[in-house]
Amino acid sequence: MGIGSRSGVGYFLCLAIVLLSFSVFGANGPTIALSVDASEAPRKMFHAQLRIPAKPGMLTLYYPKWIPGEHGPTGPITDLTGLKFTASGKTLKWRRDLLDGFTFHVEVPPGENEVVASLDYASPASFEPGYSAGMSATDKLYIVSWNTLLLYPAGYGSDQLTYSASLRLPAGWKFGTSLHVANQVGGDIHFAPVSLTMLVDGPVLAGEYLKVVPLTLPTENPPAELDVAADSTAALDAPEEVWEHYRNLVKQAGILFGARHYTDYHFLLTLSDHVAHFGLEHHESNDSRVDERSLIEEDGRKTTAGLLPHEYVHSWNGKYRRPADLATPDYEQPMQTDLLWVYEGLTSYLGDMLSARSGERTPSLARDALAQMAADLDHRSGRVWRNLQDTADGVPTMQDAPKAWEDYRRGLDYYDEDVLNWLWADVIIRQQSKGAKSLDDFCKLFHGAPSGPPMVNTYTFDDIVNVLNQVSPYDWRGFWTERLSNHGPGAPLGGVEGSGWKLVYDETPSELDRAENSDGKSLNAHYSLGLFANSDGLIRDTAEGMVAAKAGIGPGMKIVAVNGRRFSPEAWHDAIHAAKTSPSPIELMVENADYFRVVKLDYHDGEKYPHLMRDESKPDLLTEIYRAK
Ligand SMILES: [Zn+2]
Repeated sequence: MGIGSRSGVGYFLCLAIVLLSFSVFGANGPTIALSVDASEAPRKMFHAQLRIPAKPGMLTLYYPKWIPGEHGPTGPITDLTGLKFTASGKTLKWRRDLLDGFTFHVEVPPGENEVVASLDYASPASFEPGYSAGMSATDKLYIVSWNTLLLYPAGYGSDQLTYSASLRLPAGWKFGTSLHVANQVGGDIHFAPVSLTMLVDGPVLAGEYLKVVPLTLPTENPPAELDVAADSTAALDAPEEVWEHYRNLVKQAGILFGARHYTDYHFLLTLSDHVAHFGLEHHESNDSRVDERSLIEEDGRKTTAGLLPHEYVHSWNGKYRRPADLATPDYEQPMQTDLLWVYEGLTSYLGDMLSARSGERTPSLARDALAQMAADLDHRSGRVWRNLQDTADGVPTMQDAPKAWEDYRRGLDYYDEDVLNWLWADVIIRQQSKGAKSLDDFCKLFHGAPSGPPMVNTYTFDDIVNVLNQVSPYDWRGFWTERLSNHGPGAPLGGVEGSGWKLVYDETPSELDRAENSDGKSLNAHYSLGLFANSDGLIRDTAEGMVAAKAGIGPGMKIVAVNGRRFSPEAWHDAIHAAKTSPSPIELMVENADYFRVVKLDYHDGEKYPHLMRDESKPDLLTEIYRAK
């Protein structure tokens, strides 16, 4: 499947890239045979061999560096091992590029027309930062991210290179993928040749325990299915309503967008406590990974509910419609992330909307999630120095930042804060049009017809403004400029309040708060004292300017006692409660790099948990937004 460009400003940008690639590289690149041996998956060691057409002289090869959807140079180059090149059986000399560690130069002798590259991927054996570069194999399953297992020749865009891939799995393992299978002999699977773009876009989920759940009727086109692999058969035994909600999700997304940009969609869901947890979008699939018991335990279902809707929305918003400066021709050219407030922010808003419309989240649970986001951002101390646009611009260099000081540094706020902003935009459209239009109309115009196989249709800031104006004329340029550049104070709550709800706090955790902290492993006093701690008292972060920070507490310190008693979550909650009716400060004994001291917190307002409360003076737009169509 080819990936082209279609209309708007992005057309000219991509056309320029295509013309450049034609003149420099020629219309068609070579076909490369790739065979991957994953039969040692439980050891986390993988072997690959590539047959690459070549000419005598210097052959330059790249290991994929900028990984689509990960928004950074996250290719796991440190895990590329066992590299060897041969031609006609003779070993070739190679050297890594001195300026780019992902680039290799191989000397091809006279008379040779093919280089055989062998490599091993020594995949992570412990939890380290990273998405698809993180832990991906257990005793019972493995997620194949093809970019980790291949090289590609310089001089071609990824659309121009064809890969004929095969995969060997451990005996008896099953698999799910959006790639088409040409033939299968025993554990050896041969996939139909595809462009490098679509190979990297087509991960394979393989495992001993794999369940396939059709999400569309046999008569429906295009089909969608859920492929779930787990570390146990028990983890696959979810109640029927779980599968029903995902069937609803596929249906509701079709109604929202009015078109589909895939030929066959696969939700690839991994249930394991021993792989990295995240979701990564593709045109025709998503690689989503959560705790092993996420589907069979109610709290797990509540806390992971938004993930698959988010990744599915990306098939429209992110893969089909993509920021022009994020749509790079290969994996070597850097991506620019300034429009992630649309790519990720709008996806989060629509994903949350569809999680409610599909029934995966009850309206109450959806409001809990919105209240949490609003409350977190309303207390974000880093807002004073860093605007929302910079949280998107800085992603390639900032996304691996540690948790300590996150509140002041700001994390990936273009996800959650843009849920609030897109809600605000939705509310404005509904108000301006007196209820005749909504953001659903924007989705149909921007992401909709015609349906077809995967392709990329790029856009710029101006396109967003123009399409919003087509839906409902308004100062959208001014709106988004202000939303992206302001420094608060406080979160943008215009959408929450305009939708007929108010952000309030009380001493009772919400249903979502309770589900998230059912293991009692963390202590969130963000909205009261400006402090986040683990259940053992270790302080993960503090919010600058709030009570804890002002009293001298910072991340890395440890609370060892509360009001003279050894620290425990219970002692902590009791002390905050008691301080409500006492003039005395809360006394903490804090350990800091081998020293102990007493810190006094003059705080008497009790615990604070966020909720949304109905504002009867306004129409309830939020409930309408969450209602199934
Ligand atoms: Zn996303």
